[in-house]
Amino acid sequence: MGFSTIAIHAGNEPDPATGAVSVPIYQTSTYAQEAVGVHKGYEYARTQNPTRAALEKNISALENAKFGYAFASGMSATDAVLKLVKAGDHVILGDNTYGGTFRLFNRVLSNYGVEFDLVDTTEISNLEQAFKPNTKMVFVETPTNPIMSVTDLQAVSDVSHAHGAKVVCDNTFMSPYLQRPIDFGVDIVVHSTTKYLNGHSDSVGGFVALNDEKDAEWIQFIQNSVGAILSPMDSFLVLRGTKTLAVRMEAHDKNGRQVANFLVEHPKIQKVYYPGLTSHPQYELAKKQQKGFGGMVAFETGSLDNAKKVLERVKLCTLGESLGGVESLISHPASMTHASVPVDKREKLGITDGLVRISVGIEDIEDILEDLDQALSYS
Ligand SMILES: *Cc1c(COP(=O)(O)O)cnc(C)c1O
Repeated sequence: MGFSTIAIHAGNEPDPATGAVSVPIYQTSTYAQEAVGVHKGYEYARTQNPTRAALEKNISALENAKFGYAFASGMSATDAVLKLVKAGDHVILGDNTYGGTFRLFNRVLSNYGVEFDLVDTTEISNLEQAFKPNTKMVFVETPTNPIMSVTDLQAVSDVSHAHGAKVVCDNTFMSPYLQRPIDFGVDIVVHSTTKYLNGHSDSVGGFVALNDEKDAEWIQFIQNSVGAILSPMDSFLVLRGTKTLAVRMEAHDKNGRQVANFLVEHPKIQKVYYPGLTSHPQYELAKKQQKGFGGMVAFETGSLDNAKKVLERVKLCTLGESLGGVESLISHPASMTHASVPVDKREKLGITDGLVRISVGIEDIEDILEDLDQALSYS
């Protein structure tokens, strides 16, 4: 079956009680039992909820995974995955992950004896050198936020598996429509559904998809034990969002390419970060493992002053954190999404004070380009 058919039908069977075509929001905390121990598979809503179960079926099918679990946020999904490692274990973390992921390692997990090293995984030789006898997991994000570096998922999987480590990929920037990490040997996929999967900037959520039965059992156990579950209402919203994922991602990708090409030609812009540009260092790799290049574009204005001017002058693009919604959002990574990353590390990565990131929406491209053009016409 094709991607859109799966997106529209997986988990979306008509409601058995009423025939409702759209999965209802089962807004309940508990379920009536016919007799002691006799029930319909639902006991208590932290453990099981039909709306959440429908979404879990849906997204795991889209990621080509047997199992999937929906969480209250992308961060709680990542946190659940990291409960597969224990005190004394070592994790290799891509050096340009989402700021919140770095913060989770640096400020939280480090208190519990989990060791980690930051590695630039765009070079596989760097990864090969980073393994220790106690390395249990390699956690990557590709393309990265906001510099859009691309990591070879097949190569990372091969090298990590040879060292007995599991591979986790944060697939938020691509969505399963543009990239399916499991097809390249990745063991576990995490998502912030807040972004493209929901796609309408009206819900916060996270997801874990995987094939290993034993790990899946543990993730489900953590989901129930810790209780950072996705609510019925949010499950409904994301389930509605994924129905149009393919058409939205096609539109984001088309607009993203045009915005990147416009910025490359603009005299005030010094550098554009977008994997769809032939000048991008991993353009060929991106073409190989992605179905498109997506809607995330970052660009260098040269100074904090210039970045501020652009961010203050835009009218259509909304200044705000987050990404992946139908509306174009523009942000300043150094002071917003990456404020928790130490300054020296930020500069090493290229997250300068002059860097601006845009999540290109699916408005008419002429309007987006006109807005950027007028925003960049500062003196
Ligand atoms: C937003 C984001 C997260 C965190 O997700 P939340 O839903 O905000 O908790 C993780 N990874 C990436 C790449 C993100 O963009």
